[in-house]
Amino acid sequence: MISSRNGQVKWRPLGLAVACGALLCLAAAPAAAQDAFAAARAQLVGEIEDDVRRTAELLKRAALRDEVLGAMRTVPRHRFVPPAEVDRAYLNRPLPIGHGQTISQPYIVAIMTDLLDVDAGGRVLEIGTGSGYQAAVLAALDIDVWTIEIIEPLAHEASQRLDTLGYDRVVVRHGDGYYGWPEQAPFDGIVVTAAASHIPPPLVRQLKVGGRMIIPVGSRFAVQELILVTRDGDDSFSTRQLLPVRFVPLTGGH
Ligand code: SAM
Repeated sequence: MISSRNGQVKWRPLGLAVACGALLCLAAAPAAAQDAFAAARAQLVGEIEDDVRRTAELLKRAALRDEVLGAMRTVPRHRFVPPAEVDRAYLNRPLPIGHGQTISQPYIVAIMTDLLDVDAGGRVLEIGTGSGYQAAVLAALDIDVWTIEIIEPLAHEASQRLDTLGYDRVVVRHGDGYYGWPEQAPFDGIVVTAAASHIPPPLVRQLKVGGRMIIPVGSRFAVQELILVTRDGDDSFSTRQLLPVRFVPLTGGH
């Protein structure tokens, strides 16, 4: 719903979702509603920039690259959440996406994308497709993305959603991402969006020399640490602890 008061356009997404009853309807919403979504994204990017300034010491950067902020301003997060969550799509929070899983907090998506430091035309492997949102943000930077999801219905839904939205640089596979995607290796970057108990050796081997992996490591029952892994040479790697995070666990039989 769009209403105007004191010359200000107000966006009431819950009303819109209820009135339409489906995301499909949002896609067909009037241009003014799409402008309101864009305004909500712009406000969210401002909040992400504030959070980055607050965590600058840990991240070792005071601001994210303009291209990353541009991608966050572009990707329609409201199309990646269930209808019941559309009104919260532009809050800087993780949200439920079904099957006990979540779409990550936008600040986390933005910093993980930035810290990967992959240029347009680069190749990234994502472990934990979830809704497909992180993959879409990478694709918006003209990065080719291979992404693996262990829960089959989520993999199927994300694949369909990314196709519908035109993110044709993303390929989704159902499977256990612990073992990576050796047929497509090596990658410039790997982003793991579920918490692992350790850094998976198969993933490290699939990084190019100079490539980077961002991965939350730690117990599923505690706060984890976001780690940046850099492949410095054929047999040498370095790691840097970034900041405390909380992710759903990396599951599977490994
Ligand atoms: N990147 C997602 C997004 O943008 O919506 C959010 C990911 S959610 C925090 C973590 C996802 O990792 C879940 O969908 C979960 O099913 C998936 N996952 C957990 N263990 C996995 C594994 N071994 N291989 C692949 N996916 C896994």
